[in-house]
Amino acid sequence: MDEDWKQLLSQSITKPEQINKKFNVDVEDLKAVVANYPMMISKYFFDLIDEVGDPIWRQCVPSVEELHDPFGFEDPLNEEGQSRAPGLVHRYPDRVLMCVSNSCATYCRFCTRKRQVGIPYKDFSKEDLKEQLEYLKQTPSVRDVIVSGGDPFLLPDKTLEMILEKLRAIPHIEIIRIGSRIPCTLPQRITPELCNILRKYHPLYVNIHFNHPKEITKESERACGLLADAGIPLGSQSVLLNGVNDDPQVMKSLVQKLLRIRVKPYYLYQMDLVKGTYHFRTRVETGMNIINSLVGYTSGLGVPHYVIDAPGGGGKIPIQPDYIQSIDEDKIILRNYEGKTCFYPLIPRKETVKVLNIH
Ligand SMILES: *Cc1c(COP(=O)(O)O)cnc(C)c1O
Ligand code: SF4
Repeated sequence: MDEDWKQLLSQSITKPEQINKKFNVDVEDLKAVVANYPMMISKYFFDLIDEVGDPIWRQCVPSVEELHDPFGFEDPLNEEGQSRAPGLVHRYPDRVLMCVSNSCATYCRFCTRKRQVGIPYKDFSKEDLKEQLEYLKQTPSVRDVIVSGGDPFLLPDKTLEMILEKLRAIPHIEIIRIGSRIPCTLPQRITPELCNILRKYHPLYVNIHFNHPKEITKESERACGLLADAGIPLGSQSVLLNGVNDDPQVMKSLVQKLLRIRVKPYYLYQMDLVKGTYHFRTRVETGMNIINSLVGYTSGLGVPHYVIDAPGGGGKIPIQPDYIQSIDEDKIILRNYEGKTCFYPLIPRKETVKVLNIH
């Protein structure tokens, strides 16, 4: 089984000429793009493309626009500045991001870590892992570790298990989360053997990166089912992308399909200001309209938190359509999802309470 997915990986599309075999487009200009930002598309994900420029295409096929970004940063979230060991970003009080792999089954053209993923000499070494674990052992405030990359599920089962075992040996680490796009881009990699390893390290969560309803297939459903049957709570993180999912109908279909395959939509990210991704950016109103079109119209389970990851490393900031119209002495005035005004009476103030987060 372990061999099957490695075999599949070897059939990936890595050269612009290979795109030309299926789609009649000029790929000459893409060679310069690929020299800067590597390309790899799993055969499975490539086969989801129906036509040139469709939402799957846009996510994985390089575009010359990547080299003509008028405005962007290599490391917009200042991950390097907040690293306490190579690939270990400690930004929030109680949790860290731990990058353990620099490869993915498909390189997303809009990746936040475009500066490093897929570039072999930037891969993490055994020494890096040792340093990461050393920092974690010595930092008792960390109770939650997000194992990410790249894609942790591209590591061999044995390596992944070794990492999980070492994390579990640190008493103050309560929960482990794995961030992966594999169930979406190479679902064949999710095997019963892998799930039998993962289930030994509970509480363990898996957050998957899905962006479009076309990505919910029989195969991704099978992969998510195996993970869920291993007792792993599944979430999805989507990136709001121009020409991919910047549309209320598309996002509604995505979140409903995710719930059907037992994945809870968790975050919807406003695009980070990554160099080479300007053509994917939308305005914030687009995201707020999407949230407005979900709240009340479909289950609260299906509504992700729409966030901007603050440039410079300020962390994720929720962006909410405004449901509060006013708060005064004796009532709060709200609007419901249909735009109707609603009142909720308030008890008298006992003392002057400072209200946080409300303007
Ligand atoms: C997103 C992120 C986390 C996790 O945030 P949650 O809101 O707990 O999911 C942790 N560390 C870094 C650096 C992150 O970018
Ligand atoms: S799967 Fe994640 S880390 Fe890999 S290229 Fe896509 S966004 Fe980047």
